[in-house]
Amino acid sequence: MIDLRSDTVTTPDESMRATAADADVGDDVYEEDPTVAELERRAAEITDFEAALFVPSGTMGNQIAVRVHTQRGQEVLVEQESHVYKWELGGLAQHAQVQTRPLDGGDRGIPSPDAIRAGHVAEDLHRPGTGLLTLENTHNSRGGIAIAPGRIDAAADAAHELEVPVHLDGARLFNAATAHDVPAERLTREVDSVMFCLSKGLGAPVGSMLAGSESFIAEARRVRKLFGGGMRQAGIIAAPGLEALANRHRLEVDHEHADLLAGGLATVEGLAVQEPETNIVLAETSGLGLGTAAFCDALEDHGVLASEFGESTVRFCTHLDIDREDIEQAVDAVETVAATVGKQ
Ligand SMILES: *Cc1c(COP(=O)(O)O)cnc(C)c1O
Repeated sequence: MIDLRSDTVTTPDESMRATAADADVGDDVYEEDPTVAELERRAAEITDFEAALFVPSGTMGNQIAVRVHTQRGQEVLVEQESHVYKWELGGLAQHAQVQTRPLDGGDRGIPSPDAIRAGHVAEDLHRPGTGLLTLENTHNSRGGIAIAPGRIDAAADAAHELEVPVHLDGARLFNAATAHDVPAERLTREVDSVMFCLSKGLGAPVGSMLAGSESFIAEARRVRKLFGGGMRQAGIIAAPGLEALANRHRLEVDHEHADLLAGGLATVEGLAVQEPETNIVLAETSGLGLGTAAFCDALEDHGVLASEFGESTVRFCTHLDIDREDIEQAVDAVETVAATVGKQ
């Protein structure tokens, strides 16, 4: 099966398994796991923050960040299609007890400085005040688009002028960095914290990193414990994370594969393909006269998995376990499915 549903489906290779088996470990709740400490050092270095924290998932990283940055009852400015707002079970209401104010990020998935100023509420007797702005890069729901450093800076500057801190959901931060050919730290320069995933395109089995100032991470460590995310001999899973980070420059290959896939799919009559900026390819199936569920089922019968992404959009995601030949086969499978529909 050629699995293009997500870049989370990779399985650790021999080298990652060996790294895990050989890892030096200790009790990380006592801060005695040297491998976790090394991973946290590397994550802070790469994003140019003072400190970082290893967390079990990206969702937990985002939820911890919001909790640490905000006071109960405040408003958080979120992009209306963002993961933290749409895909985390309304966790901000539950874990941070804040209320969200969704902003339209438009084509580029990021609110303009004007939209941020307009969405801001000052604290007074009647209003809770805005406690945080969250941004997302790459923007998942909009097809992995890679937001340029200047736009991130502009949004963050607008928030800071209002004394509002900024958290960046960078689950696929390195895809964005690769697309813009900049080091990751260029994308985090003006934000106050960032979360990125080791378990997406980088191929590690588990884990995400949260980075920020020393005091932010010290508090995040307490909140991680509160949320049940304190881990013991976590070096076993941190070691593959270190290997994943060292290999982050190979994301370029995933992007080439996504281009190749999009190019192939674009030749299929009835499919409308969004040009990929990173490793995600979105295709509209309505022109085929097939709903996404039927399309994905038919594709599965031909050995390819894709995911339904809304009512008429299908998502294909390239990753470490996909090679050029898989892409060619996937295009063939889509052509076959489209041709079958045409005959019915
Ligand atoms: C996947 C993802 C997350 C959450 O990561 P998990 O590790 O699956 O909890 C957060 N934000 C974005 C943009 C994502 O794509």
